[in-house]
Amino acid sequence: MKVKLWGTRGSIPVPGPETVKYGGNTTCVEVTFDDNTFFVIDAGIGIRKLGQSLFERKIHHVNLYITHSHWDHIQGFPFFKPAFNSKNSINIYGCPPTYRKLQDILTNQMEYEYFPVKFEDLTAEIDFTEVCLSMFVINENVFHTIQTNHPGNTTGLKIESNGKIFIFLTDNELQPPPNSHNNTQWADFVEFCHNADVLIHDAQFTDDEIPKKLGWGHSSTGQAIRLATEAKVKALYMTHHDPEHTDAFIDKMYDGHLQELKQQGNPLKLFMAKDGLEIQL
Ligand SMILES: [Zn+2]
Repeated sequence: MKVKLWGTRGSIPVPGPETVKYGGNTTCVEVTFDDNTFFVIDAGIGIRKLGQSLFERKIHHVNLYITHSHWDHIQGFPFFKPAFNSKNSINIYGCPPTYRKLQDILTNQMEYEYFPVKFEDLTAEIDFTEVCLSMFVINENVFHTIQTNHPGNTTGLKIESNGKIFIFLTDNELQPPPNSHNNTQWADFVEFCHNADVLIHDAQFTDDEIPKKLGWGHSSTGQAIRLATEAKVKALYMTHHDPEHTDAFIDKMYDGHLQELKQQGNPLKLFMAKDGLEIQL
């Protein structure tokens, strides 16, 4: 499996000189399997560049999974070039909120007041499959889902392929306050992530920031590291960077955690996700 990160920023795109290193595009991940089929997770702004790449690679079929429908996970779809080509087909998967269909969500953000091209005028063949199951299979790759702790209905994914385990868990508050989106307990996340080769996890805030962000649906860097350590994950990539965090800020935070791991003798391989990064499993 190969994973490419096309967008790693949380909440809103942040272009500019202070975010060149980690990038300013919101969430989009490409997973390429060993048989060269591939799968896309989320349609944040990063999907625009992926669309250009698919065009250059002459790829005409796309499987796209939407973890949830907040802007930073769907806003790039109207700029996804493959949707504008009648030779292409796109299967969109996801578990939408119970009161709204996946197709309605993507159609509504392209209403004429917001965007000049209507969803029904996209020329690609676009199908929707609502998968709210704990497990499903595409091309012999096994997908397990877990409900994250985030406002609205949000899904995390574990993909098992050719003996490797890749987990993508973002927009997840590992330790939410009582009476909030308390869908899944810490121990269940540890079990879900057990022995993963690569875990990409939400780490939007620092440990100092998180007390003021309780209930926002995101985790701190320290929480993500504790989860990965308890679950015996081999490599953790921290993602969904806060829009306020500059490259210099993220570098400093990362160095601090690397030193902590060294002092603890913790074998976890720790990385910061960044736009354009490729991970080989
Ligand atoms: Zn998000």
